Amino acid sequence: MKYDLLIVGGGPAGLTAAIHARARDKSVLVISNEPTASPLGRAPGMANYPGLPGITGAELIERLLDQATALGAQHRKGRALSVMPMGGSVMVSVENDAVEGRAVILAPGVSRAAPLKGEAELLGRGVSYCATCDGMFYRGKDVVVAGDAPDLLEEAQFLRSIGCQVSMAKLAGLEILGTDHVTGVRDKNGEEIPCQGVFLLRASIAPAQLAPGLALEGGYIKVDGRMATNLPGVYAAGDCTGQPLQLAKAVGQGQAAAHFALEGLG
Ligand SMILES: Cc1cc2nc3c(=O)[nH]c(=O)nc-3n(C[C@H](O)[C@H](O)[C@H](O)COP(=O)(O)OP(=O)(O)OC[C@H]3O[C@@H](n4cnc5c(N)ncnc54)[C@H](O)[C@@H]3O)c2cc1C
Repeated sequence: MKYDLLIVGGGPAGLTAAIHARARDKSVLVISNEPTASPLGRAPGMANYPGLPGITGAELIERLLDQATALGAQHRKGRALSVMPMGGSVMVSVENDAVEGRAVILAPGVSRAAPLKGEAELLGRGVSYCATCDGMFYRGKDVVVAGDAPDLLEEAQFLRSIGCQVSMAKLAGLEILGTDHVTGVRDKNGEEIPCQGVFLLRASIAPAQLAPGLALEGGYIKVDGRMATNLPGVYAAGDCTGQPLQLAKAVGQGQAAAHFALEGLG
């Protein structure tokens, strides 16, 4: 099925965009890690959100998700790994599957993790972002799994189940070793773990990794007044577009991005 609108990220920006799209009777698929696992879920009570003073982050996400799904938005649980505009369509890969839309809104929040030393150089040569996509290449081999994704332990278990010898490592300060191919990792204490593969499973993926060629400004996604990025059919909303990193702005941009993305479909 080709959706009118794909949305990457089930936080306030993405879910508001989904609500707006369904109110316009457009088909919409939200691709997101478990929305309730979003960092906002830890906010104890927000004093500055208009009209709902004191609402907790968890309650707000739950209400937004209920509203979006009650209106008919579909939710695909999983990590979006790449976004590719293809002349009139946008393809989004979700783990080892792909979905197609007429336009996409990027609303993944901010990626707080800095890239690791060796990560960019060895991507595709031992560094992977998806266990279920690439795991089979590492059957019978030593691999390291690191990250903060909600499904980290499930993914590590999947790798074990297909015959990988899995070591877990902490992302902070990790360095990836190797020249042509991964040969190991070094942790922040200087301890080395030899391996052939490293699975970096982060809850949030940096925008430039998600959509190659995406223009950034100060590390955030660059958008114009219609929330359009430099890539055709690709819009962005919320924290990923920059300061202020606040709820009211995320919600407003989510609505605007859906409005202009749908207008762009004609
Ligand atoms: C503890 C805390 C307290 C806060 N308190 C306040 C406050 O009092 N007032 C206020 O205005 N703001 C507050 N904020 C900020 C506010 O939460 C953010 O501005 C807002 O959540 C941004 O919404 P968003 O939709 O852009 O991103 P997010 O809320 O970050 O949602 C993004 C979602 O997309 C998912 N995602 C990311 N990448 C991918 C991918 N590749 N594939 C699938 N899913 C992906 C993430 O897991 C997440 O669920 C607080 C934030 C935190 C963490």
